[in-house]
Amino acid sequence: MKEFQMLLRDVSQNGQTFQYNNQKIWLEPLKEFHISCKIIDEIHAEVFILPEEDGCLFRGKLRGKVSVPCDRCAEETEIVIDYAFDEFEDYPNDDPVENSEEVFEDNRVIIKEKNALIIDMGALLWEEFVLTLPTKPLCRKDCKGVCPNCGKNLNDGLCGCEEDGKDPRFAILRNLKIQ
Ligand SMILES: [Zn+2]
Ligand SMILES: [Zn+2]
Repeated sequence: MKEFQMLLRDVSQNGQTFQYNNQKIWLEPLKEFHISCKIIDEIHAEVFILPEEDGCLFRGKLRGKVSVPCDRCAEETEIVIDYAFDEFEDYPNDDPVENSEEVFEDNRVIIKEKNALIIDMGALLWEEFVLTLPTKPLCRKDCKGVCPNCGKNLNDGLCGCEEDGKDPRFAILRNLKIQ
């Protein structure tokens, strides 16, 4: 997102703190990558940027609240975001041989354009945001999920499918007596 890019030389050499409240930073990639995640309380980011000799330090915080589907039952699950990060991003390599596609991929945050270094805060804040999302969110620790048979949410009570135990493999086990 061009909108959230800035020239590195505009950042104070002693470091400078920036605030980000524009929800587009997160809403646009969420939509683009089809991620089921709703922002409930606006996300607020504060980042201290310190340009150094061979790279740039980004020290910041992300706060807000989102809602994602539970990994087991798909119910909306609220996730409070209160996340601190401390990243060091190298400046892009000048050597055209070394500056292969792979290196370029690694430099999503600091881009070189017409001899000027540009910081893409949209890319940085999106990456940090993704790190705050749990890979397997659960609505509660002991979420029982849905019945694979009838699809009922088992947190609301049993559906009866399992109770019947129509699976013949279990019928044998049921007849065994524990001695
Ligand atoms: Zn659940
Ligand atoms: Zn069932």
